[in-house]
Amino acid sequence: MAKTNNRGGRKEECCSFCGRKKEEVLVLFQGVDGANICNECIEMGYTSLANNNIIQPKGEKPAKKGQEFNANTLLKPQQIKEFLDGYVVGQDSAKRSIAVAVYNHYKRLKNAQNSEQVEIDKSNIILVGPTGTGKTLIARTIARQLGVPFTIVDATVLTQAGYVGEDVESILSRLYQASGYDLESTQRGIVFIDEIDKIARKGDNPSITRDVSGEGVQQALLKILEGTVVNVAPEGGRKHPEQKFVQIDTKNILFICGGAFDGIEKRIAQRLNTRAIGYGRVNTESIDRDNLLKYVQPQDIKSFGLIPELVGRLPVITHLEPLSRSVLRDILTEPKNAIIRQYKQLFEMDGISLNFDDAALDYIVDKSVEFKLGARGLRSICEAVMKDLMFDAPTSDIKSFTVTKEYAKEKFEGQSLVILKQVM
Ligand code: ADP
Repeated sequence: MAKTNNRGGRKEECCSFCGRKKEEVLVLFQGVDGANICNECIEMGYTSLANNNIIQPKGEKPAKKGQEFNANTLLKPQQIKEFLDGYVVGQDSAKRSIAVAVYNHYKRLKNAQNSEQVEIDKSNIILVGPTGTGKTLIARTIARQLGVPFTIVDATVLTQAGYVGEDVESILSRLYQASGYDLESTQRGIVFIDEIDKIARKGDNPSITRDVSGEGVQQALLKILEGTVVNVAPEGGRKHPEQKFVQIDTKNILFICGGAFDGIEKRIAQRLNTRAIGYGRVNTESIDRDNLLKYVQPQDIKSFGLIPELVGRLPVITHLEPLSRSVLRDILTEPKNAIIRQYKQLFEMDGISLNFDDAALDYIVDKSVEFKLGARGLRSICEAVMKDLMFDAPTSDIKSFTVTKEYAKEKFEGQSLVILKQVM
């Protein structure tokens, strides 16, 4: 029914649901029989419908039925690795560990349905490796394969609750958004926390002063990694009293943390050297001094500055290898969505067959190595090489084009005008 406030004999329009006056809200919609509804009540109703999965929030794709998680059709570790092989070059050790950890994680979910079984612990993962070696790529590819919601967060933006920055809980808001506001799938999603090493506490001693972005964040992370029910603001942002919350149980969310842990090799070397003299002697001769990361252990992560409780919650530790020249070369052409394949596809859409000479590819790799840009650099070097061609080719009448080393060099060094080598 129509709702109006009658003040001083004058009827004021107000929301029939919350009673707020027209001036107190942004918009007041008028219905039949004088009933009104304000924008805030509409928002609340909308959130409630979305939370209860009655509607799919606009702009979010509904979960693809074919991709829905099914514990009975779990891929085996070898199959998971094979899938990863299609997108991630090298990094065999990391791919194997992750394949096993993910497989066990989802077996654990299956097992949880049967209360008489032994309870299996979560196998959160920590990936240690130089930047640009594929940590995020592996996590993203795994999530894609499993068809579960996935989100990447940067640990450096997280701060303790109450400080400027993002609360740790915002991680869960993002996962919830990534799931298309589907609570059930959120609760078995994957979160990739990047740059976990940047929240290491400074120095080995626990700090006595407040460490807003370091230890405090680690403590907050610990809670959600352990498994707890968190009140999360669906749209993220700071909590405020009038906001509606969803309760997300993090018990079955898989956390993959990644970090470069710059300088950790020194700690690993120290540990290995000490062990070489004392008890638990290792053969120092056989130590691969050029790649000490492969010996990384929980105690190294701890001595780097992650609190022991957090390290304990990340039982699977694996490392990524620095990218060699030949791996970089493969990254250009081998993955299913390799950079070179992408350019070929783009040109094909204009009816142009694009090719690259081997020497041109070698040149691109050389430049990436020379400028220490790693795999990330490959893309920007290719962009520099291809920029003019991508501009000119669509309006020209060429049917095919081969990128030679000379062409790549000239474009990269930006010295002279476009010379199209036409192969009709
Ligand atoms: P990290 O998370 O280790 O810093 P990323 O996974 O974000 O690095 O890698 C950056 C980009 O480099 C990726 O998007 C991908 O294109 C490429 N890349 C890095 N490592 C690999 C790899 N092993 N195989 C294929 N591509 C890779």
